[in-house]
Amino acid sequence: MIIVVRPQTPDAQIDDIVRHIEDLGLKAHISKGEMRTIIGVIGDEGKLSAEPLAAIPGVEQVLPIMKPFKLASREFHPQDTVVQVGKVKIGGGHLGMIAGPCAIESREILDEIAGHVRAAGANILRGGAFKPRTSPYSFQGLGEQGLKILREVGDKHDMPVVTEVMDPRQVDLVNQYADMFQIGARNMQNFDLLKEVGQTRRPVLLKRGLSASVKDLLMSVEYILMGGNHQVVLCERGVRTFETSTRNMLDLSIVPNVKGQSHLPIIVDPSHATGRPDLIPSMARAAVAAEADGVHIEVHSCPPKALSDGDQALLPAQYHSLMKDLRKLAEVMGKSIS
Ligand code: PEP
Ligand code: MN
Repeated sequence: MIIVVRPQTPDAQIDDIVRHIEDLGLKAHISKGEMRTIIGVIGDEGKLSAEPLAAIPGVEQVLPIMKPFKLASREFHPQDTVVQVGKVKIGGGHLGMIAGPCAIESREILDEIAGHVRAAGANILRGGAFKPRTSPYSFQGLGEQGLKILREVGDKHDMPVVTEVMDPRQVDLVNQYADMFQIGARNMQNFDLLKEVGQTRRPVLLKRGLSASVKDLLMSVEYILMGGNHQVVLCERGVRTFETSTRNMLDLSIVPNVKGQSHLPIIVDPSHATGRPDLIPSMARAAVAAEADGVHIEVHSCPPKALSDGDQALLPAQYHSLMKDLRKLAEVMGKSIS
């Protein structure tokens, strides 16, 4: 349920409305916009029905939220959320340009790649230390050693870092090194993991599950928001279909679809969505044109030697030339890259 507060209602009166809601054992979320203040109510709304809420001074309207997700919905929070990752902003007109190798392989390799992507204009460095591999015989990541390397290299190149956390037991450890948690496609519905990162105040990059609907994605994010962590960026990375010529099928319509329903930023990962370096640049450009809040791209200085996802990595020079286009597009779209 949302309560629309009358324009120019004094803060003391808004506090009264909130107290009223909390006295009923419900949670109130205040969202102050330029024109209007909205109070979202979460909890057993049955308790509210008997209450003549509309009669409280300052209350203009009481509206039910029809969507199954609440905290993630636009009704609840009409203005775009801006997520702050280190000094980089994502959302509300700011583009997050996340780039780096699939996995952290060594300090030297990551340092080389970071130098290239930074020079090209990336503003967040990625790299996996815990890798969700299909085969248990494939490279699983360097674990804590990888996190240390990521932190050092990120600091050296003045870039905040994002890395995957696969298990609730890893959250404390990853929280010590990363500026942003990544929850991978395979864990989008790992509800215990979602709850655990929801207890932190560290930004989260939540990737769409392999066969998750838009509603599934927005219900998953609700688990994180419920814990009080509102710093979440969603990520489209393609879904499984009958198509075999690409790794997954990129659903670009999810960008305006999510933006209509939610205030959270959404970025696009054309690397995992297509699995093909020849398709990544055009899909990245299309993503920015579709109003995505950024792109997430895997880059490797020597793809044939990469320990994970080498066949989809862009070479540094390819990334560089793509970023030139994306900067021009950002300008056309009225977006900035910090
Ligand atoms: C990754 O970012 O390297 C990754 C494993 O992504 P996804 O979870 O989208 O497959
Ligand atoms: Mn990868």
